[in-house]
Amino acid sequence: MQFKIVADYFEKIEKANSRLLMTDLLAELFKKTGSDDIQQIVFLCQGQLAPPYEGLDIGMGEKFVEEAIAKISGYPKKEIEQKFKVKGDLGLVAEEVLKKKKQSALFSGELSVAKVFNNLLKIARAEGKGSQDLKIRLLAELLNSAKPVEAKYIIRVPLGHLRLGIGDPTIMDAFAINLLKEADAKLKKEIEDKLKEKKVDKRKEEFERKLRMRIRELIEEKYNVHSDLGSIAEKLKRNGLNGLKEIHITPGVPIRPTLAERLPSAGEIVKKLGKCAVEAKYDGFRVQVHKYGEKVTIFSRRQENMTPMFPEIAEAVKKQVKAKDAIFEGEALAVNEQTGEYLPFQVTIQRKRKYDIKEMAKDFPLRLFVFDVMFDDGKNLMGLPFKERRKKLEKLIKKGNDIELTKSIVTDSPKTVDKFFEENVGKGLEGIIAKDLSAPYIAGARKFSWIKLKRSYKGELQDSVDVAIIGYFKGKGARTQFGLGALLTAVYDEKEDMLRSIAKVGTGMSEQQLQDLEKILSKTSVKKKPARVDSELEADVWVSPKYVIEVRADEITKSPVHRAGKKEEGEGLALRFPRMISIRQDKKPEEATSVKEIIKMFKQQTHVKIGEEK
Ligand code: ATP
Repeated sequence: MQFKIVADYFEKIEKANSRLLMTDLLAELFKKTGSDDIQQIVFLCQGQLAPPYEGLDIGMGEKFVEEAIAKISGYPKKEIEQKFKVKGDLGLVAEEVLKKKKQSALFSGELSVAKVFNNLLKIARAEGKGSQDLKIRLLAELLNSAKPVEAKYIIRVPLGHLRLGIGDPTIMDAFAINLLKEADAKLKKEIEDKLKEKKVDKRKEEFERKLRMRIRELIEEKYNVHSDLGSIAEKLKRNGLNGLKEIHITPGVPIRPTLAERLPSAGEIVKKLGKCAVEAKYDGFRVQVHKYGEKVTIFSRRQENMTPMFPEIAEAVKKQVKAKDAIFEGEALAVNEQTGEYLPFQVTIQRKRKYDIKEMAKDFPLRLFVFDVMFDDGKNLMGLPFKERRKKLEKLIKKGNDIELTKSIVTDSPKTVDKFFEENVGKGLEGIIAKDLSAPYIAGARKFSWIKLKRSYKGELQDSVDVAIIGYFKGKGARTQFGLGALLTAVYDEKEDMLRSIAKVGTGMSEQQLQDLEKILSKTSVKKKPARVDSELEADVWVSPKYVIEVRADEITKSPVHRAGKKEEGEGLALRFPRMISIRQDKKPEEATSVKEIIKMFKQQTHVKIGEEK
């Protein structure tokens, strides 16, 4: 197929002023497309060259694209840059300069869809030394043969903005339009029966509309379990609606996640679900793990491939998952090796990075809390009721350190749900998720099969707190080498000139800082707890208070182990999820945040409100 046909349609679609028109134009384009080209055209419509989960980045910097345009047009690069400044779109610049091409083309011919797609694919895959030159050459080669309108859209692909505004639902709708005639008697009867129930004016139009929606639904059901619209399009093109039967859940191809509804209280949850499973809600990354033989792929909630970022999870899957092939889901969360506490999202999020992965995995190892299974050794489990899937999940995971099942209870008592909620929030978790015991796994939809109840985040402390170091704990695990794992810290009681404990701080420090802190603190170590220090917790090493650090925390909570504010409030106060931000070289312990200030901050913060959203 000639790329010119596609470019002309893209131009019409870009100008279309309604989604309806856009869908009709797309349907026309798909009708004209043969089954060999359809996959590539669908990918191009999505502005990509492969399904998103493959993570193929076509990115080419503007500078290099400008160079390619300059090369084939004969215009100096400066002039191309200037034109880009005026137009704000290199696609339009390419179109314009090709219209008035100054330099005669070295080679000119018809561009096929396959040629365009393959060159763009080579651009995306080029890496290493000399790859930029190669990319420029490949793009220039296309531009040399391109008509102005073709150039406009070719250029926009590697720049990552096609500006067509075609969403996946529009692509599916366009297919549904083309498949209307294919609907079999059963499908038609289903729609007719629905229409019989209602009085409808324009029966024929309404029938068509409903049938189209139903076909789109059938396509979407498959898309939800197989996130590759290109391959679905190809099967539809080759075999019509029957092609959908060839699409199966496949390890390596992500399933769109089921989502949770919200209800404001435990009472309403139980009213809705009756006896249900209630699970702890962990605040980390949702991951979908695909294991096929020895290969493991970890997808994010948005189907990005995260495998290189979480090497310890991939390793743990190989050790702890019994099945040869499996697809399951869970929440990956950083856990403090020193204190065993779950770390806040702000810490876990740092694991989403392309560099220093090994170091970060050592500092903030992730633990995976699994909550659902969709595929187990060749069997699609999505249709099973949740309680059966949970049993399968229990059998799937071997005991080990890195993967465990989510904490879960089964109950029909709102009181028990509330108690479980409080318990988990108390441990630093986000709340709970209740699950319908009889529901299947509903891919890509927010239904009442899951209902979330979260603690409030409004209590997050706006301000950081300056705390004095009163002692420290020796490192465990990866931190043994530093001789320091966590700090014991305190705020200042002005009235009585005391330092009262408020937090154990084990996160936020770099390896270098851990070493430096150990060096300076060991110089001020003392044999026993200093008299000015009020702490129930026993540090491994007590220090004479000298240093102050700045700490950020999620909130101030009542605590049975800490002493700040105990006299005034009856119970001690503590920082939840404290993380060090900096060493306050400019402050003495007496200049740390005072107990009085902490009490004020505690009273000002909004308290946990059940059911409130972030
Ligand atoms: P949503 O995913 O509903 O669009 P969101 O991304 O803001 O919303 P939350 O409101 O935090 O997420 O709630 C749902 C998320 O909770 C899930 O996507 C999952 O990542 C996480 N989660 C944590 N623990 C569990 C659990 N036990 N079962 C299911 N999901 C859990």
